[in-house]
Amino acid sequence: MRLATVVVASRNPGKVAEFRRLLAPAGWRLLSLEQAPQGSATSWEEDEETYLGNAMVKAVAAATSTRLASLGDDSGVEVKALGGWPGLRTARWLGEGATAPQLREGMQRRVADLPEDRRQAAFVCALALAVPKAEGGLETLTAEARVEGLLLPRPRGLAGFGYDPIFIPSGETRTMAELDPAEKDFHSHRGRAVRELLRALEATTP
Ligand code: IMP
Repeated sequence: MRLATVVVASRNPGKVAEFRRLLAPAGWRLLSLEQAPQGSATSWEEDEETYLGNAMVKAVAAATSTRLASLGDDSGVEVKALGGWPGLRTARWLGEGATAPQLREGMQRRVADLPEDRRQAAFVCALALAVPKAEGGLETLTAEARVEGLLLPRPRGLAGFGYDPIFIPSGETRTMAELDPAEKDFHSHRGRAVRELLRALEATTP
């Protein structure tokens, strides 16, 4: 399957920027929902029980309304000592309207009393690509990846988005927000998932 123009089925500008960076070398021209025909009206419910299920819901919603290839992403952080919490609810555990800084500060408070060995966590990223077929219907492809690391009770660094200032990927001493973009992409759940998706895509191309 060869792709040129792809809609990012996300309203998170941090994710859109990362996909632009990660997929430009593969020759993809990425459109935000606002840039895609009928994209602004696209909506979905994130109510599946897996990251991949939610990523697929987003990709299918965008591909159905825009009739363009669309990429859905569902991500989350899982704190080991808290049984994988907040996981699928990483964007919503503080309530539907919570902002990214509120979520990060809430997480800082939640882990503040935990010793370092109980602050081990992983970020997960599931991707789904939905491509309209000439004869109707959609062709789909998925990928999933994770990065292990450590959550901090206090933020460090200004780059990235979301929980980046309080997450150190394993093998690093700096938070995701202290890494430069290429370094974040090397370590991150999203960077790994994109590389996995490109490998899967390559395997479908004769
Ligand atoms: P969702 O994938 O839209 O459900 O949101 C996942 C949640 O994880 C949001 O609160 C994001 O800000 C956060 N998140 C996803 N990816 C990253 C990342 O790469 N760094 C930091 N936070 C992230």
